[in-house]
Amino acid sequence: MTTPLDPAATAALQRAAALSIDFRNQLDDGPQRPRADYHEMLQRFDAPLPGTGASPAAVIAQLADRAAPGLTAMTGRRFFGWVIGGSHPVGVAADWLTSAWGQNAGNHLASPAAAACETVAARWLLELLGLPPEASVGFTTGATMANFVGLAAARGEVLRRVGWDADARGLFGAPPIQVLIGDDAHTTVFSALQYLGLGHERVTRVATGADGAIDAAAFEQALLHCPEGPLIVVLQAGQINTGAFDPFLPLIARARARGAWVHVDGAFGLWARACPAHAAPAEGVQAADSWATDGHKWLQTPYDCGYAIVRDAQAHERAMSVHASYLPDSAGDRNPASLVPELSRRARGFATWALISHLGRDGIAAMVERHGRLARRIADRIARERGAALLNEVVLNQAVLRFGADVGTEAGDRLTRAVIDRVQREGRCFVGGAQWRGRWVMRLSVIGATEEADADLAAEAIAAAWRAERDAALED
Ligand SMILES: *Cc1c(COP(=O)(O)O)cnc(C)c1O
Repeated sequence: MTTPLDPAATAALQRAAALSIDFRNQLDDGPQRPRADYHEMLQRFDAPLPGTGASPAAVIAQLADRAAPGLTAMTGRRFFGWVIGGSHPVGVAADWLTSAWGQNAGNHLASPAAAACETVAARWLLELLGLPPEASVGFTTGATMANFVGLAAARGEVLRRVGWDADARGLFGAPPIQVLIGDDAHTTVFSALQYLGLGHERVTRVATGADGAIDAAAFEQALLHCPEGPLIVVLQAGQINTGAFDPFLPLIARARARGAWVHVDGAFGLWARACPAHAAPAEGVQAADSWATDGHKWLQTPYDCGYAIVRDAQAHERAMSVHASYLPDSAGDRNPASLVPELSRRARGFATWALISHLGRDGIAAMVERHGRLARRIADRIARERGAALLNEVVLNQAVLRFGADVGTEAGDRLTRAVIDRVQREGRCFVGGAQWRGRWVMRLSVIGATEEADADLAAEAIAAAWRAERDAALED
C-alpha cells in the first residue's frame, strides 16, 4: 500500500509551482531591477526565531511574498548585468524533480539514476565543447570550484612528476611550483590558487593586450625567465569584460613544450566551441590539460552548476579522492565523488541532461550565435550616439561601453556611472559597470533569454539614458 503525501505538503508543492510560473510570467512587465535594496529586504525578512511552525503552504506563500520586491530579473529577457545565464524553464523543471527526488549524487550505489545521468551528460559536454573524449568531468557548484578542481589536479600532477606526493604530504617541503597567469584573468582563479596554497600573489602575471588577452611575446618572456621545475600555466577563454580569448594555439604549444600543465578558465567562453560561428578564436584550447566551465551561464541551467574537466582522469581522481569503508567501491565505473570536493551533493546531471536534450547541439549553437549577434546589435546601436564609444571588438557576447568618450577621464567616469544608474533606475533593462583600463565602463553581457526585439528595446533605453545625461551635463 502506498502512503500518499500529506495533503498539506502537496499543497505547498503545488503552491510553489504556481508561484514560480506567475513570477516568470510577470517578469518582463516590471522593472528589471529589484524594487527593494538589501536593507529594506532585511527588514522584510527579519523576525524572531519562530517558536511554533506554520503550515507548509503558508510558509511557501510567505516566502514568495517577502522575497518578491528584492528579486532581480536575472531570468528575464533584458538582463545584461554580469555574465549570468537565464535559468531556462526546462532546466528549472528538471531541477524541481531533482529536489523532489532528493538524490544524494555522491555515488552510483546511492543513486544509480543520478550517477548514470551524470556519466552521459559528461560525455555530451565533452562532445559539445570539442574536448578530449578521455577527459573526466566533475559536476561542481560553478566555475570557481571547477577552477579549484582543475588546479588541484594540476598541482598534484606537476609535483608527482618530480617525485613529490602533494595529495598525501601537502606543500610543506615540496619543490616550488611556478604559476603563469594572464593579468586580466578572472578574480576567482586567484581565489582558487589561494585555496590551494599556491597563493594569489605568488604568481607571475603576464601582460595582456588592450582586449585583455595574453600578449604572446610577453608570455614568451615570462617562460624564458621562469625557473626550471613544476609549472602551471593558466589561460582564459572569454575575458569577463571583453569576451577575448588568449591565443591558445601558440601559448599551449609553448607551455607544453616546457612541460607545463595548462589549465583554462572558460566559465562562459568555452561555449564558443559549441557554436561554429564563434569557434575560431577558441581553436587549440582542446590541447590544454584541464578546463573549467559553467552550466549556469551559457547552458542556462539553474544555479548552481559548473564542470571541472581534466584530460588525465587519474590526476583528477587523485586530487579529489575520497575513501571510507562504508562508501562503495566504484569498481572501475565513474565515481562521482572522486571528481569534486563534496561527498554529499545535488544531482546536477539531471538539469544538464535536460537542457542538452531540449536544446540539442543545433539549439545550443543557435543560442550562442544569437547572443553574439544581439550583443553586437546593441553595442553598434549605442556607439552611433554622439559621445558614446564601444571600447572592445565584440568577439563574443560582451560589450564594453563608455559615455562621455570625448571629455576627460573624470568627467567621463561621472557620465558613464550616471548612465548606468539611470538605466538601472528606469528599469527597462539591467546593465552593470566596472573599471576597465583605469576608466569606468558599462558592461553588457547578452547570455540569457534575450531576443531581437528585447535587444532593440534595451539599446533604445540605454541610448535615451545617455542623451538625458549628456543634455543634463550641457546645462550645468
Ligand atoms: C563567472 C566566471 C567565473 C566564476 O564562475 P562562478 O560560476 O561564478 O563560480 C570564473 N571565470 C570567469 C571568466 C567567469 O566569467
